[in-house]
Amino acid sequence: MTFPNFTSPTPFPPFSTLPLISSPPTSSTVKPTYLLGTIQENMTLTPKTPTFICRDRENEPFAITLKLRDGQTGEGASVSEAKTGTNGENNFFEHAQGRKAFTKGKCVVIKNGKRKGSQEPNEAEGKKGKKGFVEGGWEGGEGGVEGGVCVIPTSLEKLMDLTIRLATEGGIRRCQGCGKVEEKMTRCKGCEEVWYCGKDCQVKGWTEGGHKSECKVLKAVKEIFGSEELGDDGFGR
Ligand SMILES: [Zn+2]
Ligand SMILES: [Zn+2]
Repeated sequence: MTFPNFTSPTPFPPFSTLPLISSPPTSSTVKPTYLLGTIQENMTLTPKTPTFICRDRENEPFAITLKLRDGQTGEGASVSEAKTGTNGENNFFEHAQGRKAFTKGKCVVIKNGKRKGSQEPNEAEGKKGKKGFVEGGWEGGEGGVEGGVCVIPTSLEKLMDLTIRLATEGGIRRCQGCGKVEEKMTRCKGCEEVWYCGKDCQVKGWTEGGHKSECKVLKAVKEIFGSEELGDDGFGR
């Protein structure tokens, strides 16, 4: 697939430029936006609304609140309580697998997010103003970004670095172990994005080269953005 250009603010805008919840719906011809942010802190106060503080591409903090559907639960809003719960798949705090695991340092993906509860500052009345927050649905289980807010298992910063690296490579089949460009190469079966010249280099790239964690990131990006329409400047390569 074409790797998304996570450095482009058009498909991946900062929080401050998101439309307000009161603004009219955007036309269906306008390409979607995806708010990205690295999770900093779990701020959940009530079990029905898991809430996280994230930092966007400009390193500005914003809050995201996830609305759970009927049948879904966030019982055990604290981590210790969640561990004793038995609700499995439908329990937000128990479902700690894959792209729905909201843990510190990972990157959330919110499609077509809008700002809620924001207020312009009013100096005459001495009001500071409110930045507001963004709300998203949590579907649990797997499923693309249409199925609710997703998580990529790395920070936004590293995701942007990865975009640049892949764009620099320009699709060259370079061995992840030794860096050579050989005629016969094997593709990583996990992500299908990187190449190896042989078994030894595969092992080397996986362990020393750090592909073990990178492979998960590439897979998540592919699953989330594989069928999304990103527009002209949405692609890194
Ligand atoms: Zn090699
Ligand atoms: Zn891989």
